[in-house]
Amino acid sequence: MAAANAQYYATRDPLGRAGDFVTAPEISQMFGELVGLWAADLWDRAGRPDVDLVELGPGRGTLAADALRAMAKARLRPPVHLVETSPALRAAQAARVAAASWHDTVDTLPADRPLLIVANEFFDALPIRQLIRAGDGWRERLVACQDTLFLPIAGPPVPDAVIPAPLRDAAPGAVLEVSPAAVAIVRALARRLVAQGGALLVIDYGHEGPALGDTLQAVRAHRYANPYDLPGEQDLSAQVDFTTLAAAAQSEGATVWGPVEQGEWLVRLGIDARAAALARARPDRAESIAADRMRLVNADAMGRLFKMLAVAAPGWPAPAGSG
Ligand code: SAH
Repeated sequence: MAAANAQYYATRDPLGRAGDFVTAPEISQMFGELVGLWAADLWDRAGRPDVDLVELGPGRGTLAADALRAMAKARLRPPVHLVETSPALRAAQAARVAAASWHDTVDTLPADRPLLIVANEFFDALPIRQLIRAGDGWRERLVACQDTLFLPIAGPPVPDAVIPAPLRDAAPGAVLEVSPAAVAIVRALARRLVAQGGALLVIDYGHEGPALGDTLQAVRAHRYANPYDLPGEQDLSAQVDFTTLAAAAQSEGATVWGPVEQGEWLVRLGIDARAAALARARPDRAESIAADRMRLVNADAMGRLFKMLAVAAPGWPAPAGSG
């Protein structure tokens, strides 16, 4: 499944109305601008040190472009580092963000200065493992291939010790998801924040765990599809377990805030004032600006399912929006 998603992103730009799905920065410039102001405010209260801006999985580069424009108004003009594996999306990012450096992984990011790191819908795209409760205990779910058909099967048993105690006695059929890849990246970044200073903002759809549930989903042309169909041709993602990521960051000595629901966070950062200013500048677009704001903020759209988790170096000020 990991290889399927790498192949998917490597070969296309999946974002926007003509693609497979739409993300928050593609809905409205307000999203990236407020993320940029979050970073600029933190940088200002940290005493305006020399910093680098990092984005993980920047898609088309829209969030970075909007954030950098807002940061520049606050006199923050950091060097930009984009962690991206897809050649197709690197080309799209280069068209929107002048003078960035690209990285295949977080390992090659600069190690000498504080980092302000942003990740929107990056962690949901990383590979997961599913553990399934069978009649005789927990097993890892594997994918079998029969001719051209892929399907989930129960694989070898896993020791009970790897299942969080409150979930061990779940009913047969229960599924537990883990993402060792996501945990490893958060730990590596938290270690850097502790050593170098700075902060990380994880924005994604997800929940506070530990929780059971099969959340693996495939999206193609704005519709849900069977995740076992057409490997490499549809977007695969799974809900982010914010509790596990927060614990991973704390285990490295970093401080965490949240998660806070996206709607609440955007209101705290000032989306209403920004929407009003944009509507004053473009009265002909007032209705669509209001609709975009509702899509980002409302609980029945993205406002509740999507969340912001902030991680910072000890001694750094509390990031805006988190409490
Ligand atoms: N942040 C963007 C795009 C989200 S889609 C937005 O909000 O619009 C997921 C992004 O993560 C894509 O840019 C994809 O190519 C990238 N990506 C997925 N897996 C990755 C990995 N293992 N390493 C680096 N980038 C990855």
